[in-house]
Amino acid sequence: MGSEMIGQKAIGLDVGSTAAKMVKLEGGRLVERRSAATLGWKELLPSPEEDGIPIFSTGYFRKNVPHVKAVTEITAAAYGAQHYFPEAEVIADIGGQDVKVTDLRSNTFLLNDKCSAGTGAFLEMVANYFKRDVGELGTLHFKSGDRAEINHTCGVFALSEMITHLVKGKSIEDCIAGMHFAFARRISDLIPSDAGNIVLIGGTARNEGIVDALSRVLGKELLVPDEPQFVCALGAVLYGREECEK
Ligand code: ADP
Repeated sequence: MGSEMIGQKAIGLDVGSTAAKMVKLEGGRLVERRSAATLGWKELLPSPEEDGIPIFSTGYFRKNVPHVKAVTEITAAAYGAQHYFPEAEVIADIGGQDVKVTDLRSNTFLLNDKCSAGTGAFLEMVANYFKRDVGELGTLHFKSGDRAEINHTCGVFALSEMITHLVKGKSIEDCIAGMHFAFARRISDLIPSDAGNIVLIGGTARNEGIVDALSRVLGKELLVPDEPQFVCALGAVLYGREECEK
């Protein structure tokens, strides 16, 4: 593909297990950002007038959606995270069904997709238990006055431990904050202890309670880009364009 063809407009389409995300670049600028449910990814495709605009896909479903190039999630995460933070050393991408940790210093990669604890699905289950939206968890976290101590990092046991706290009179806010810390301890095992600049991305990084708990468990500030859920879509289009221009 010639660089003139992709010079103006291009789309990054990240179709993950839980959500589909799209970013549109025009020239060098990000002009649009939209998301949909995974199976609603067609809503994110360009309008018929924009037919021909190149799509660079990533995510679990990257090969199932229209694309001129499918980019792995690891490459997309690295390009997207380094776009915001060139000094990034480690990237933790906490998505709906898995957690991916990339150490850019050694080019190594860890994946947890075996267990729901430490994934967005677990937080959705917690929110659902309290009949709240997952987007409210962060606000509730900061309203906790006396956090529940939840020791289990297995999702099923953590949930029953949380119910025990509720029975004993702990508030919803205290239980949610406790769950965030249990979640953070689970994730922290995957993050190299000597890492300095850790970038947190994925939809779960939208939860300020998780950012707070993880940074306190790790004992360091985390780098969180604006709109962390769109970082892989952006990375896919940045990488794809660069490759096509070579
Ligand atoms: P994937 O790429 O695996 O489909 P995402 O990176 O899009 O997943 O993350 C999905 C997760 O993001 C959801 O499971 C949910 O926990 C979390 N999430 C989505 N929206 C919000 C929000 N507004 N506030 C907090 N967390 C959110």
